[in-house]
Amino acid sequence: MTSEFREQLYIGGAWVPPQSSDRIEVENPYTEQVIGHVPAGTPEDVNLAVSAARRAFDSWSALPMAERGAHLDRLHQALAARAADIARTVGQELGTPLKIAQAVQAGLPLTVLRGYADLALAPVEEQTIGNSLIVREAAGVVGAITPWNYPLHQVVAKVGAALAAGCTVVLKPSELTPLVAYLLFDAADEAGLPPGVLNLITGTGAAVGAAIAGHPDVDMISFTGSTATGRAITRAAADRIAKVSLELGGKSANVILDDADLVKAVKVGVGNAFLNSGQTCTAWTRMLVHRRHYDEAVELAAKTAGGYTPGDPFDAGTRIGPLVSAAQRDRVRGFIERADARLVAGGLDAPLPATGHFVAPTVFADVDPDSELAQEEVFGPVLSIIPFDSDDEAVTIANNSKYGLAGAVWGGDEHALAVARRIRTGAIDVNGGSFNPFAPFGGYKQSGVGRELGQFGLEEFQQVKAIQR
Ligand code: NAD
Repeated sequence: MTSEFREQLYIGGAWVPPQSSDRIEVENPYTEQVIGHVPAGTPEDVNLAVSAARRAFDSWSALPMAERGAHLDRLHQALAARAADIARTVGQELGTPLKIAQAVQAGLPLTVLRGYADLALAPVEEQTIGNSLIVREAAGVVGAITPWNYPLHQVVAKVGAALAAGCTVVLKPSELTPLVAYLLFDAADEAGLPPGVLNLITGTGAAVGAAIAGHPDVDMISFTGSTATGRAITRAAADRIAKVSLELGGKSANVILDDADLVKAVKVGVGNAFLNSGQTCTAWTRMLVHRRHYDEAVELAAKTAGGYTPGDPFDAGTRIGPLVSAAQRDRVRGFIERADARLVAGGLDAPLPATGHFVAPTVFADVDPDSELAQEEVFGPVLSIIPFDSDDEAVTIANNSKYGLAGAVWGGDEHALAVARRIRTGAIDVNGGSFNPFAPFGGYKQSGVGRELGQFGLEEFQQVKAIQR
């Protein structure tokens, strides 16, 4: 088992001491005990990492893509050997129930990294347009800044794509869940990635994140997190017109049409809203139900929510763990306290385990589509149910959001597909279509700019050049 008390940063292909002796403690949100610490990096550490990434860029980007693929293949093997450690670490620092952590927090990033190795090993052919050869080249030195809710997946979605494209990377993981990133860098060290290609600086957003975003030698910033921070990063990048790719918040609608399989739609919908304690940017937090089925749907959703008993993430039967931090719990409780809607499950007085930053799985019915609860990203296990009378009204309510990340539609196949086409989001699942880790992932409106995952995600880290002959 690896140590959770990490003293070093990874720069230029080696573990190195940080410039400051300050540390950030990592808490287990279930036991509320400190379980580890990492260096509180500084702008000086960022300078060293960016210099190392810059020095590595020319030779890494000049490698044939298939050779980078071979490196990613070795990285994938070294990371896959750590799968059990990854699930356990995320279970401890985030509180994801172990079984879900094994599938989503360990399995998904391994699938994504495997996919990038395969894409690089078999690159797509260059295109010609008339007398022009269209060449794709690495975007440059990338600053990757990630949040805590899917802490390895969000890192790998950036790092796998960026390295395949020929970029070099300085990564800053979330200060709340930095430990799992160390497992990736242990794997990178073991896999023998060329020095400087991948660098790790842990620390706060204010110190390390801002230094990366504003660094003159960082060509591109790839960020996942809140819309407010996405805005700050875009401003920091604007002075030098650095490329910015953003995966931000969401307020996704789960539209249940009059001809839907109601029981399946509600059960899957509740499960989706509560996945990872509701700390999922794509969570279907607004359940829109045709009036004909509304009362039945409310009753079924409340009953289904009652089956999600909060508990110890390491108990085999636990389906829902705590929120990541006391601050996040208090934020979510605030939304529940202010809600002006009919509480049908959970709420602030529901029983909870003795320790841990829990919020009971909560369902509100008759939610006003313009209210705070229906408009703001809660990022906790809180589901809002809203009735509608026609397809047009369902589409209007679904699109009544500053976000546009994901969503779902349930109904007759052609009917549901026609409604799905009218919803302004980057992804939408029809009748339970499963998440595809190779399909483009990203948002419309304030949910972001650019796409991650698969070939689209790789191209995000490339520049396009036309050579005329
Ligand atoms: P955040 O946006 O504050 O943090 C995400 C990352 O950005 C972290 O690594 C953080 O250190 C860094 N960061 C913070 N300020 C920065 C700055 N000025 N410059 C550069 N980097 C900076 O998100 P959070 O505090 O982790 O969560 C707050 C809220 O964001 C959540 O409640 C939720 O609503 C939302 N969120 C959304 C997603 C998503 O995937 N869409 C993920 C996590 C959080």
